Amino acid sequence: MSDLEPVLARTEANLESSLETLFDLVRVPSISTDPAHAADCRKAAQLLSDYLTGLGFDASVRDTIGHPMVVAHHEGASPDSPHFLFYGHYDVQPVDPLNLWTSPPFEPSIGVGAKGQKIIRGRGTCDDKAQLLTFIEAVRAYKQVRGNLPIRLTVIFEGEEECGSPSARPFLEANKEELKADYALVCDTGMWDDDTPSICAGLRGLVGEEIRIFAANQDLHSGGYGGIAANPLHIIGRIVAGLHDDNGRVTLPGFYDGVEETPADLKAVWDRLERSMPHVLDRVGLSIPVGEKNRSMLELNWARPTAEVNGISGGYSGQGFKTVIPAEATAK
Ligand SMILES: [Zn+2]
Repeated sequence: MSDLEPVLARTEANLESSLETLFDLVRVPSISTDPAHAADCRKAAQLLSDYLTGLGFDASVRDTIGHPMVVAHHEGASPDSPHFLFYGHYDVQPVDPLNLWTSPPFEPSIGVGAKGQKIIRGRGTCDDKAQLLTFIEAVRAYKQVRGNLPIRLTVIFEGEEECGSPSARPFLEANKEELKADYALVCDTGMWDDDTPSICAGLRGLVGEEIRIFAANQDLHSGGYGGIAANPLHIIGRIVAGLHDDNGRVTLPGFYDGVEETPADLKAVWDRLERSMPHVLDRVGLSIPVGEKNRSMLELNWARPTAEVNGISGGYSGQGFKTVIPAEATAK
């Protein structure tokens, strides 16, 4: 029997109460991008801080310029045990469009998935509330069995991961001595498939921009001005269409500056992996990849930068028609 087996057995025995904790957390609508949910974000942070305190952490909810952080420390077997920093986030994405939900997003429940497997329904369950709890519940089981942790542990949970983490850098800089660690673990990634956990060694970052095009000084009737007045929607359309060339490369000047080529040996491994798995696009109903030519889908997806348009708005898109040439159009 390995050293860990009693701990793993304890996590199994704890499952019921672990689920209760998860469901309590999922019930809090901690939508970080919506200011109307600021109090809910704080509530989720407090819930986690209290839970960690109950497990023997020195935990607190810490104010930032935005939603609060949860920071918690736990001593190890000795003062020079290695120090691990564990990161997760308690905030979630908005829930629109509500009519596509088959159950209320903040009323967690256990249901049956497409393959007959048990699934948990509820916003944030798979990003990142259950992930962060897997780690915390592992700590709980370990302590129950062994009494203490073999490592010094600092936990940091943020509440702005889903809205660009504006407070993360200033908070980390202001508290760098306290948060300095030998290892950092992030549990905010996916599984390889339903049965295969994976360790993610890197992630792409994100830069967001909004383009706003203004033309006439007011919305115009297309009967009166169509054909002579510039239409911001057409201009946005041309800009968006021009973001990629016919070979799938992004045309923005300097876009690939500093992007390193994937090493050949890594490419070979990824090619083998891609051949051994179901088509990457299968599960989303697609078959032909876009993006740069002559690169595997895994390389495009894992190692190459991408430029995606997330939304275009302007003019009229409600029921029926409106003969408008809008004064303004935007793309994100
Ligand atoms: Zn996440």
